[in-house]
Amino acid sequence: MAALCRGRHRWKRTNCLYVLARNLTGKFDYDLVVIGGGSGGLACSKEAAQLGQKVAVLDYVEPSVRGTKWGLGGTCVNVGCIPKKLMHQTALLGTAVKDAKKYGWQIPGPVCHDWATMAEAVQNHVRSLNWGHRVQLQDKVKYLNIKGSLVNEHTVKGLTKAGKETILTAKNIVIATGGRPKYPANIPGAMEHGITSDDIFWLKKSPGKTLVVGASYVALECAGFLTGIGLDTTVMVRSIALRGFDQQMAGLVTDYMEAYGTKFAWKCVPQRVDKLSSGALQVTWTDTKTGSEHKDTYDSVLWAVGRAPETKALGLDKLGLQLNKETGKVVLGADESTSVPNIYAFGDIGEGRPELTPTAIKAGKLLARRLAGQSTELMNYDNVPTTVFTPLEYGCVGLSEEEAEKRHGKDSIEHVGYRTTTNTLLASAPSLKFVFLPPQVVCERGGDQRILGLHFTGPNAGEVTQGFALGFQCGATYSHLLQTVGIHPTCAEEVVKVNITKRSGLDATVTGC
Ligand code: FAD
Ligand code: NAP
Repeated sequence: MAALCRGRHRWKRTNCLYVLARNLTGKFDYDLVVIGGGSGGLACSKEAAQLGQKVAVLDYVEPSVRGTKWGLGGTCVNVGCIPKKLMHQTALLGTAVKDAKKYGWQIPGPVCHDWATMAEAVQNHVRSLNWGHRVQLQDKVKYLNIKGSLVNEHTVKGLTKAGKETILTAKNIVIATGGRPKYPANIPGAMEHGITSDDIFWLKKSPGKTLVVGASYVALECAGFLTGIGLDTTVMVRSIALRGFDQQMAGLVTDYMEAYGTKFAWKCVPQRVDKLSSGALQVTWTDTKTGSEHKDTYDSVLWAVGRAPETKALGLDKLGLQLNKETGKVVLGADESTSVPNIYAFGDIGEGRPELTPTAIKAGKLLARRLAGQSTELMNYDNVPTTVFTPLEYGCVGLSEEEAEKRHGKDSIEHVGYRTTTNTLLASAPSLKFVFLPPQVVCERGGDQRILGLHFTGPNAGEVTQGFALGFQCGATYSHLLQTVGIHPTCAEEVVKVNITKRSGLDATVTGC
């Protein structure tokens, strides 16, 4: 057998090793091998181990183009939700300190921010989470810091940084390798001189005057905290902001950011990035409204133009595993099955799946339970709530007005709002006093007036939206909302006060609390 395995091709050799392993032991090394130790992969492997399965998880971080690298835990922990939320919180703290002066706090001198102190605190917190994840796996899940690829439907090949190969066999294999930020194609200097969200949270020095290209979650959240800590920040938007979100709410978010100090270059597309002898980055762009060309210099250019699924190293083509040709993501069934038996995938790598941590975690746990034969419950990807952590936070669950109109027809939906210019809480914070607080509820026009979408902007939008998401999941109707008594004085109470329909044409502006 060993002689037969001395083939020239690695693939054949590893296949032979696999056959050898099976023939000798008569079973697999593991019940489950998970490739990817991010939000989803860790949740899946820990749940499977909890249910008595023998599990290995492989996690390997390819350094970013700029050479940034990090530890166990995936995107959310290292270069996503967690460092982002901490930097967002940093910015909010600065704003609160400035407001505090107006309420009598004696703060000597101007309020200044030091990037290095923030970065150290954030990075130390992330490292503590890396450590926490390793401790949680100990004695339960075999953790291997190796890059995994698929050999066949029961075999994974792992490669260490030094090039050492390991073969693992398993009854089932799960792919949860997430995604990485994209660089735009055909923009000279983009990759050479730009950074992405894989770098921004790990910079030792302030990025300085920054151009953020893109206008979705990552771009607006990063631009928000950069502005909030006092950096000159411009967002370059090629089309609209927050595509897919309710556009009235998206407008509030960007209006607020503009008032907060973020500059916007609307309908502009970058053409090239050149490094000047001074070290500054000169960006040339076209304003598509006029066709005119412009230039400006920045200390940093942050590309936030979307993410690409991390499939390259996995060898999926050899197995004929079906990918979506356009997005490169793995095509999945409702049970997270791929086109190859015994291989499953979920999280950011999955076609049509929300790119959010809680969905990856929940889908991973449910998959582990099904694979362990403990449950048949499928992940419900409908009505997933989300929040954009911009200076004016925006949380929502369900459909935008635009999507509700598309699915149900303009005449079958009602759009209800409530607008106050003098919300007592917000008016008390000078930096927020110009904010209108108009939660929006989109509901069916007839029958029970089931709520189709709920949208909230204001402080702690994530906390507010999380609560309403439960009602939404339980099938809340507009009359349920009206029957609910508010908690005063809060921003969340505004949601239960919405009463002016868009159709009525009445002015939804309300003064007084
Ligand atoms: P990941 O967490 O990306 O994990 C995949 C892991 O697999 C990584 O560690 C990767 O290095 C590893 N890997 C890849 N290939 C291999 C291989 N061949 N072998 C071994 N290991 C491999 N979501 C929210 O819900 N809320 C937020 O506030 C939020 N903020 C975000 C902010 C930013 C800047 C970004 C970029 C994302 C944010 N997200 C947020 C999205 C969230 O981070 C992702 O949806 C989530 O991390 C996806 O989890 P996952 O398990 O699919 O993949
Ligand atoms: P995204 O949602 O895919 O948005 C990409 C943005 O970049 C869009 O505004 C797009 O504009 C623009 N763009 C694309 N190519 C461009 C180019 N060549 N030049 C200029 N602009 C370009 O990507 P993302 O913001 O990176 O977010 C990825 C995912 O991460 C999200 O879907 C989200 O699920 C997750 N995430 C979640 C949170 C959260 O929960 N708070 C935070 C961050 C990220 P067009 O609209 O014109 O295409």
